[in-house]
Order: sequence, then C-alpha cells, then structure tokens
Amino acid sequence: MVVVEKGPQRTCIACRQTKDKKQLVRYVVAPDGAVLVDYLQRLPGRGAYTCVANQCLLDAVKRSSFQRCFKCQCLPVDPLELAQQLTQAIEKKIASLIGMARKSRQFIAGSNAVIEALKKGASLALVIVATDISASIVKKVETLALRGSVETACFYDKQTMGQLLGKEERSVIAVQSGLLADSLLNELHRYKQLVREN
Ligand SMILES: [Zn+2]
Repeated sequence: MVVVEKGPQRTCIACRQTKDKKQLVRYVVAPDGAVLVDYLQRLPGRGAYTCVANQCLLDAVKRSSFQRCFKCQCLPVDPLELAQQLTQAIEKKIASLIGMARKSRQFIAGSNAVIEALKKGASLALVIVATDISASIVKKVETLALRGSVETACFYDKQTMGQLLGKEERSVIAVQSGLLADSLLNELHRYKQLVREN
C-alpha cells in the first residue's frame, strides 16, 4: 500500500473542515489590526484559515469567526475587501507562473502556433485564450483542445498576455505539461471558483 504523505492540516474557521493547509486561504492581522489575505502563507503571526469558497469567507464574517480566532485583536472584517484581495493575489500568482513558463520556455504563444501544436497532439496541459479575441478563434481552439483533453481557460486581454510574455499582443498561449502547468491549473481553478461565486 502506498502511504501518501500529508502536508500540515488546518481547519476552516467557517465550515470546520480540516484540509491540507495549501488548499486553504490564510489570513493574518496586520499591525494596524486589519485582517489581510496571506496568500503565499508566509507572513508571521497567528493565522486563520478558510476554504477558497466565498461562502466560507462570508460565513466566517457573519459568525465573527475571525474575531474569535484572533481573540478580538482585529478590526471588523469586510468580506468584499478580502475577496478582492484574494482575487488580486491569485491574479498575481497566475502572472508570475506565466512569467516562469516564459523563462523556462514551457509555452507556445500565438493562435496559429497553438492551433498547430494542438493538431499535432503536442503534450500540452493548458491553453489560455485572451478575453478579447474573436469568438471563431475561441471556438476553434476550444474544439481542438477538447479533442486532445487539454484544458482551456479564458483569462487576461491580449495586451496583458503579451506583456507577461514580453511580446506584442498575444491572443492564445499554451503551456506544456509539467509541474508548472499543474500549479497554473490549480490557480485558475481557484480563480474560477471565486469569480463564479461573486
Ligand atoms: Zn470552509
């Protein structure tokens, strides 16, 4: 039997489910008493955790779980503000992962190049299409990706995508299979979960 090594576990202050710490969102209290999202889980001090789901954040606020966890040493919590911080933190993380994919050359940029790679059955994990490209290209890319069991996500506009890659506008990029792509997929799933709920 294979024993899977579990990482440190933490409990969501709202739904009380215990999960791997990495699957939860960490919060800390800043010196001024404000509760902050500690997305990278590196800030010092006592931490509170919730699931990524927006509902757990809302429930935690409703039931004063932050106050209880931080022993009343924090200011009142605005769930919208924290959800926004969380969304921004995920966007930043996605941008840095795309930057890493660029540096390690684990990506293909440009709609033609990506379509070509999908047709050839290249080992891709993920295709990201810009939010501001024509529906026909989106459809073409999505159909090919689906056929090859490659996940697609709609994220960033062409300009931002190009900037992240140090290039002109880019409408489509693909990331090769590997650990980096797995991390990216993980962040994109979290993002989708948040955006869908808001
Ligand atoms: Zn929860």
